[in-house]
Amino acid sequence: MTIRTRFAPSPTGFLHIGGARTALFSWAYARRHGGKFILRIEDTDLERSTEVSVAAILEGMQWLGLDWDEGPFFQMQRLGRYAEVAEQLIAAGHAYRCWMSREELEILRKEQTEKGLKPRYDGRWRPERAKAAGLVPPERAPVIRFRTLEDGDIGWHDLVKGPISFQNRELDDLVLLRADGVPTYNFGVVVDDLDMDITQVIRGDDHVNNTPRQLHIFRALAEEKKIPAFAHLPMILGADGERLSKRHGAVSVMQYREEGFLPEALVNYLARLGWSHGDSEVFPVKQLLEWFDFKHVSRSPAKFDPEKALWMNQQYLKNTDPGLLAKLTEEVLNKTKVDIKNGPPLDRVVSLLKDRANTLQSLAEAARLFYVYEEPAAKNLAELLNDRTRPALQMLAAKLADTPWERKSLGAAVSEVLKASGLKMPELAMPVRLLVTGRTQTPSLDAVLELLGRETVLARLARHQSVNQTG
Ligand code: GLU
Repeated sequence: MTIRTRFAPSPTGFLHIGGARTALFSWAYARRHGGKFILRIEDTDLERSTEVSVAAILEGMQWLGLDWDEGPFFQMQRLGRYAEVAEQLIAAGHAYRCWMSREELEILRKEQTEKGLKPRYDGRWRPERAKAAGLVPPERAPVIRFRTLEDGDIGWHDLVKGPISFQNRELDDLVLLRADGVPTYNFGVVVDDLDMDITQVIRGDDHVNNTPRQLHIFRALAEEKKIPAFAHLPMILGADGERLSKRHGAVSVMQYREEGFLPEALVNYLARLGWSHGDSEVFPVKQLLEWFDFKHVSRSPAKFDPEKALWMNQQYLKNTDPGLLAKLTEEVLNKTKVDIKNGPPLDRVVSLLKDRANTLQSLAEAARLFYVYEEPAAKNLAELLNDRTRPALQMLAAKLADTPWERKSLGAAVSEVLKASGLKMPELAMPVRLLVTGRTQTPSLDAVLELLGRETVLARLARHQSVNQTG
């Protein structure tokens, strides 16, 4: 049997961390077993669904590399099919038309609540009851309800959570099709999962309560062997134990891109949210596709830790080829109008900086100093240029005029000046940094000098020296 899984987002917002993790596991399971991964857009919530969200979800999946084999299918393009299946269920006695109005339902719920009962539809339009009660269909479009068994229970063996069951009397006769012909979530999902031959339904465990209802519909429509297995994934919580939301920082996948995450790093981090393979933390997606199974999906909620996500990104930045990293960093620099033609080759710059950056943003920010010269602050100049440092700076400038321009010799030149002047390393390095880069904090001085080049370094040392001497 070919494994067929699906991701079925509702397009009511961007692709968020939780959705992306569900999509990842569903995709990984299909890929691991040589199966198919299907994308289905559940756009039946007409008020909240938008095309912008559809585009955002597709973009997020593409960025993460979660490619789908079939779809995207849109539920709103399948209304005819839902109507057809609803009729089939009516004909078989599994469903019926119900004309109860919203107001009537409201009154019923109120009465039930007052009696201390759980508010639920009472099945009054089940044909035999309606007939006995002499109910006459009014002049308005009915909804179609499912006739849920009233006794016994219904359960399944969840691939993550193990056996789960519900008592049928907890469930009422749910609406399948609204009066306007739009299916409810529980109906659309079953028709589609059957039509699309889904073998494993993989989704968040906020849907556990829907599964018994869906199972009843499945059973009314298909033989047992066509009914998919279910894997309900644990929720993702913020550090405070609350369900992950905007309060916890970035929840949109594309925001991670904005913030300078590599998609491979985010995928790796998502893979570890509620699933593990021994102690493995950093592993490529190829590895996930060999390892992924439900046995190692945790039953308890996962915690989203932004610090750990950054750490993961750092591991990937470190291991990215400098040429590629330079390209990605250049895109970020271009956005802030930094022109890399004004400085050393960017791949050499990122090689120097990448071990300390945890986002492309921080890498670009660090790289900026090689391309944009910021005038040293007067306060810093006053503090760092004095009678002790100025002669040493001049001595250094003189040496640098004919030192071979590579890191080791530059370091040696600095050491010689320290020795001759009696200054300590920071006493010399700080004013050099300030004059040459405008900043007081930079990576290792010899490396910075090497990358900036002799001409730039000497010009900047000389310029500020003379400004300060005359001014
Ligand atoms: N549209 C549902 C959601 O976004 C899909 C649930 C499912 O996978 O069955 O939560």
